[in-house]
Amino acid sequence: MITKTYAVPTAGAPLEPMEIERRDVGAHDVLIDIKFSGICHSDIHQGREEWGQAIFPMVPGHEIAGVVTEVGSAVTKFKVGDHAGVGCFVNTCRECENCKAGLEQYCQGHLSSTYNGRESDKQTPTYGGYSSAIVVDDNYAVTIPASLGLDIAAPLMCAGITLYSPLRHWGAGPGVRVGIIGLGGLGHMGVKIAHAMGAEVTLISHSPHKEADALRLGADHFLLSTNKEATKAARYSFDLIINTVSAKIDLDRYMSLLALDGTMVLLGIPEEALSLRTFTLLSARRRLTGSNIGGIQETQEMLNFCAEHGFGSDIEIIDVKDVNAAWERVVNSDVKYRFVIDASTL
Ligand code: NAP
Ligand code: ZN
Ligand code: ZN
Repeated sequence: MITKTYAVPTAGAPLEPMEIERRDVGAHDVLIDIKFSGICHSDIHQGREEWGQAIFPMVPGHEIAGVVTEVGSAVTKFKVGDHAGVGCFVNTCRECENCKAGLEQYCQGHLSSTYNGRESDKQTPTYGGYSSAIVVDDNYAVTIPASLGLDIAAPLMCAGITLYSPLRHWGAGPGVRVGIIGLGGLGHMGVKIAHAMGAEVTLISHSPHKEADALRLGADHFLLSTNKEATKAARYSFDLIINTVSAKIDLDRYMSLLALDGTMVLLGIPEEALSLRTFTLLSARRRLTGSNIGGIQETQEMLNFCAEHGFGSDIEIIDVKDVNAAWERVVNSDVKYRFVIDASTL
């Protein structure tokens, strides 16, 4: 099946229209007519080969929301007309202990990324959501609750689950002081979700003009990271900090904001390695950890959580022809707070 896409032809080149072939719908597959596709900063990192070893041409996009238009003979999870979402991976080994535990994002075998990856045959390249349709194994698609618009639901498939998973894992809730660093696609979902979980939320930002939005989105406090006095006064005052910054940060400065036994979770994936002084950890028995998206069952749980609390992402919908300009704006931290491609413009 020939499908319209926008693709990066070679590392760092602008995206351009490209037709690709999708496989026929197999017994366990669903065909999803893509309605909206979110733009994640990871798309840009990979399209510009900032993480190395990328596969070109690349059709980015792992925040996919659409309507099921065909189901394979063995599919019971979906029927034609259902609203479905696809996130960051479209297959895993299903046999390792992490897959069996519903932690497919930590698959120790072969994980097929939604794009810039290989199918389970380890050869066929995968193509993502900047596209009019996708064929995916039904185990790796989730149901988007009817009350959530597909446009505001699309970014939940990466930005939403990437924040939900560590916030749950590290116990965000009443009485827990949570800091979210960076008000971008991931960060704004972190503020909304942590607030909905009942935590006391502080947005830590290097952009002074984002204060009003942070408070509107559910933050209780705003900390300007460039204000030396304010950050000094905030030392030892957080139980959990989630770092969503796409660039290299001074980890020691941010980690000194953690209280005794506080935890810093790294989500942002800058090109350069971060460094940390041992003293920063031992002086308050602090922990440093990371987190990678979330499993399929947890993604469904997150979608249901957002539907129950009545929110999706704050988005700017764009025509696909404006995607290159949108990427530039993301790099300049100038998006409120996620670009979503209207796939009908393909
Ligand atoms: P984004 O929309 O560009 O947001 C990043 C935010 O970081 C910006 O809005 C900005 O917030 C802050 N920032 C940017 N440059 C900065 C700098 N030099 N110093 C301090 N703060 C800076 O990106 P995103 O889509 O949310 O993705 C964020 C990162 O997470 C990317 O590296 C992406 O690849 C990664 N990611 C990881 C996972 C995972 O599973 N771990 C999943 C998805 C994405 P302020 O203006 O408020 O400071
Ligand atoms: Zn992403
Ligand atoms: Zn596995």
